[in-house]
Amino acid sequence: MKLNDRGLLIVISGPSGVGKGTVRKALFEMKNHNLTYSVSMTTRKIRPGEKDGKDYYFVSREEFERKIEEGKFLEHAEFVGNYYGTPLDKVDALLDQGKEVVLEIEVDGALQVKKKMPDCVMIFLVPPGKQALYDRLRGRGTESEEVIEQRIQKANREFKKAKLYDYIVVNDEVMNAADRIMAIIRAEHAKTERSIHKYMELIGEEEE
Ligand code: 5GP
Repeated sequence: MKLNDRGLLIVISGPSGVGKGTVRKALFEMKNHNLTYSVSMTTRKIRPGEKDGKDYYFVSREEFERKIEEGKFLEHAEFVGNYYGTPLDKVDALLDQGKEVVLEIEVDGALQVKKKMPDCVMIFLVPPGKQALYDRLRGRGTESEEVIEQRIQKANREFKKAKLYDYIVVNDEVMNAADRIMAIIRAEHAKTERSIHKYMELIGEEEE
């Protein structure tokens, strides 16, 4: 039985290289969920294997800046020389349809979302250790040494923001991390403040 009409907004952040994308994909492959991924817009170059419209909407700086002016983003941020942003239009509509909307975004953008939609669920994904992160960033082989260095520095700054999140999830094993996130989503649904109104309505009782 469903006790929430509006879906949850789930924000997943974590330092570059922690494996957010892989964990998110594992999460979406799990059974019995109602999750929808919000595809972000970016000005960064497309990586081999990525698809426009699936991984990101890849646009020029001019187009991105025009959309900022038109107020088309729920949040946006600059990350290592490129813009990234969450298109506003779909997120609200999906939440109204009762869907769980997952954002996978960096810390500055996540804090903008928290301000605008305080009942979102903020999850910070961390590596089991810093070396694992550095190895992943280098092993990816898609960025220059300069960009990798910038991403490492950015990751070290991002670690310090973990305390602003509701949950910390360790990505020691992809499936473990996805399981933990699913457990958080289920628990958040059952929270009294999210479900009591609908339940009282169902049993025909007034709330005190
Ligand atoms: P990447 O270039 O590795 O795909 O992403 C770089 C960083 O930007 C990651 O931390 C990723 O989570 C973040 N990111 C992706 N989409 C968005 C977005 O829409 N908004 C913000 N603020 N960050 C994003």
